[in-house]
Amino acid sequence: MRTSPAIWLAAWLLQANLVFSDLVGFGLHPFKIYCASACQWALQAYPLECSEKIPKGFLGWATTSSECKANDTAWLTTLAWCLHVKCRAHRMSELQAFWETDATRDMTNFGNTGTPVPPKWSYEESLQQITEPPRKMPVDTMTVLNFTALVPEIEYQAQLNTALGVTKEQETGAEYGVIILVTGFGIPIILTWLYHLPFTSGLLSKITPYLTQPSSIGTYSVRSLPFLLGNAPTIGQAAYIAIFFIINIVLMSVNYQSMQPHLYYPGESMEIKAYIFYRTGIAAYALLPLLILFASRNNVLLLWLTNWSHATYMLLHRWVARLFVLHALVHSFLALPIFLPQQAVVDSDYWAWGVVATVICVAILFASVLPLRRWSYEIFLVTHVVLSVILVVGLWYHVVLWIGLDSYGYETWIYAACAVWFFDRAARVGKVLKNGVRRSKVTDLGNGYIRVDIPRASFANDGPGLHVYAYFPTLSLWRPWENHPFSIVPTSLMSRVERQRPEQSSGSSSPTAKESGVHINVHDVEKQNGFRDTASAPLETGITLLIKKSMGITKHLKATDGLLTLMDGPYHNTSTREIRHCDRLLLIGGGIGITSLLPWIASHPNIKLFWSVKESARCLVEEVHGVLSEIEKDVRVGRRLDISRLLEQEADVGYCNIGVVVSGPGGLCDDVRAAVVAVGKKGSTSFELDVDAYSW
Ligand SMILES: Cc1cc2nc3c(=O)[nH]c(=O)nc-3n(C[C@H](O)[C@H](O)[C@H](O)COP(=O)(O)OP(=O)(O)OC[C@H]3O[C@@H](n4cnc5c(N)ncnc54)[C@H](O)[C@@H]3O)c2cc1C
Repeated sequence: MRTSPAIWLAAWLLQANLVFSDLVGFGLHPFKIYCASACQWALQAYPLECSEKIPKGFLGWATTSSECKANDTAWLTTLAWCLHVKCRAHRMSELQAFWETDATRDMTNFGNTGTPVPPKWSYEESLQQITEPPRKMPVDTMTVLNFTALVPEIEYQAQLNTALGVTKEQETGAEYGVIILVTGFGIPIILTWLYHLPFTSGLLSKITPYLTQPSSIGTYSVRSLPFLLGNAPTIGQAAYIAIFFIINIVLMSVNYQSMQPHLYYPGESMEIKAYIFYRTGIAAYALLPLLILFASRNNVLLLWLTNWSHATYMLLHRWVARLFVLHALVHSFLALPIFLPQQAVVDSDYWAWGVVATVICVAILFASVLPLRRWSYEIFLVTHVVLSVILVVGLWYHVVLWIGLDSYGYETWIYAACAVWFFDRAARVGKVLKNGVRRSKVTDLGNGYIRVDIPRASFANDGPGLHVYAYFPTLSLWRPWENHPFSIVPTSLMSRVERQRPEQSSGSSSPTAKESGVHINVHDVEKQNGFRDTASAPLETGITLLIKKSMGITKHLKATDGLLTLMDGPYHNTSTREIRHCDRLLLIGGGIGITSLLPWIASHPNIKLFWSVKESARCLVEEVHGVLSEIEKDVRVGRRLDISRLLEQEADVGYCNIGVVVSGPGGLCDDVRAAVVAVGKKGSTSFELDVDAYSW
């Protein structure tokens, strides 16, 4: 039984709610009453009768335990008087509540650390001990406080500003972190849902050729930019990236409030710098779950909530990563002038982990450049995963060794990131286990083309646009975890047509595979949908992969009858809904790209296939020739397609909307994108485009 997406979503949101209730400013409030905490801190430095004595010859503060404070008359009466004077706006019950939980805490750090010990008197009883208003202040931090004192105003104010300023900034930072995460996550959902509203869909399809389909840089999209600089986003993707960067920059720039005198950051400029330092650090943490989500195979946005493609999310993953590094670098560079003069901070473990995390995230960025991914995808992948794990560990220690758990709740972002990561990995393992161990039949088609028939795949007939990650553990004993994405074709589709072959050769009007040029068969809906002999043929529930050997694991594929195979999948590259709803469907393929087009053949009643292959791929044409026998097609061996012309011809027929699915080399995919944009802008026919390029 399939679990409904709504249940998954509800579970996800519930989990998100639980996780974020532990975040500062949301469920977590380090200071219940600022004035009370400021009183307590202002007194913290003065030794009491029961404080641990400082050895002779040593300078510094005495340590005062919670037990000592709980039983010390001077502490309790001085604190009670300060609360009475400074916290007039608060009710007696609030002050009593503070008294019970916080009056004796060890306050050596922000956030209330230490376990409270119940004071010997209640707040009210402590006040009753004061017979007349105190007039004297404590002498100094080396002299024992043994009378009811007035808290020095300047110290109180500095403590209040520090507590208020730093905590308010943490709360603002956390709030902005949540905004960043929610907008990053929510924009794709809102845009997808907008698309489905009845009154917007017409308008959106008009602006599609201007906004979502064209590339932002020339016609580069699947092809890399010159010098392997990476992939250019489409205008729609660029708009998301720009909006997201702007949101981040604005949120990092507004709403700072200086509160001087400040104990930690003297001077307004230093204080604001410190707040930017905090905020960029928090923003980096907040991006972490989104960063991992966009890269996952089992990404809830991709699986259920949006119609954006896997390739889009991979592209966005890279941009969110750049933003993450930007925040981390601003955070780190601002830390230098603020903390380098403080030797204790520089010597601390959390500083060291911060340095590790910054260096690692920059290293990941450089180790992910396109030339490296092209040089060896597997080395890139392993390095990427290992460095990312070290990064997450570094971020964990950076925050936990700094402030401890549950102080500001920044570990929440790490929990959320790990939850996304574990969900993806667990779903992968679950899918592999569900699909089971299979023995595949591998056939060498010649010229570097391979056919792999994997028996009994429950998803074989789930429709077009699917791929699986195939594991062939016996092909690479040193890297049994290696897995690669391949488009799937139902074996039943291949074999049904194989049974038809004799019929075709005896008098069918279909051209043979060896012919090239334009061939248009009369369209026959019934035949295309039914494949005539399906009813009588035993349906095979396996899948077929057609693979072009490359330089990695696929190089080792050889003909055999029992190749050990595991499958993680199926996954869809993008939603096929819009394409299916078009009046006409054009399938445009180059070379091995035919694999992802074949399953479409049985999915739409009005299809035409355009496929061009090199002479060396003739074996592929022969292999699938039977499958194509019943459809309108233009198959060219050794000759290129004139994409613009063919799209214009189709548009001239007067279809209302035409779906175009293209799969093949980057150049072909980009040409089709450019032509769809150009023709879409000209006429009254609107185009839906699905680019299934075998790379991301
Ligand atoms: C959604 C999708 C569907 C695909 N369907 C097919 C198909 O039906 N038939 C086919 O022949 N090829 C298909 N490919 C391409 C195929 O995945 C690669 O050719 C294969 O991974 C190469 O394996 P290798 O170890 O021999 O490659 P290598 O020679 O090591 O790498 C060649 C290139 O393949 C890409 N690549 C390698 N590993 C991966 C990976 N794990 N994930 C993504 N890209 C990778 C990289 O860009 C790399 O530069 C598809 C790719 C994608 C993304």
